[in-house]
Amino acid sequence: METAKPHFVRRATAPKTRTRDYGVFREPVREDFRKTCAYCLFSEMWAAGPENFELDHFRPKSLFPQLTMSYYNLYWSCHVCNRQKRDAWPSREAQAQGIKFVDLCASSFDDHFVSQKNGKWRGKTIAARYTIDALRLNRPHLVQLRLLLREMDLG
Ligand SMILES: [Zn+2]
Repeated sequence: METAKPHFVRRATAPKTRTRDYGVFREPVREDFRKTCAYCLFSEMWAAGPENFELDHFRPKSLFPQLTMSYYNLYWSCHVCNRQKRDAWPSREAQAQGIKFVDLCASSFDDHFVSQKNGKWRGKTIAARYTIDALRLNRPHLVQLRLLLREMDLG
C-alpha cells in the first residue's frame, strides 16, 4: 500500500512551450528532481555532474509517442540509469502481476525499497524487485558509493 509522501514532488503547473523540443524542459525537470537521478537517487554532485544527466521519458516515447512532450513524463536521470532503462516497459500481462517501474513521483522510497547495511537496496514489492533488476540499481559503483557516503555520514 502506498501511503507515505512521494519522494519527488513535481511543480504544480507544467511549463509551457510552443516548440516540439522537449529539451526546453531540461532545467525545470532538473529542479523538480532536486538535481538527483529519479532512479538511483544519486545527486549530480556524486554522479559526475549535470553533464552526466539526461531527460528520461518515464513512459518510453517509442511506446507512448503521444507523451513525448508531456512535462510530467519527463524524469531527470543519470546517463547510466537512462541507458539501462531505454525502451523497457513491462507488458500488459506483467503489469497485471504488479510488475512496473517504481515511480518515486507517486510513492515514497520506503514504500518499495529497503536500503541495507551492505549498500544494496532490497525490493519490498514486486515492482521494486523489477526496477532494481531492470535498472541494475545494485550495480557495484552505486553500492560502493552508498557505502562511502554512509562512512562519511553523508548517505
Ligand atoms: Zn541513476
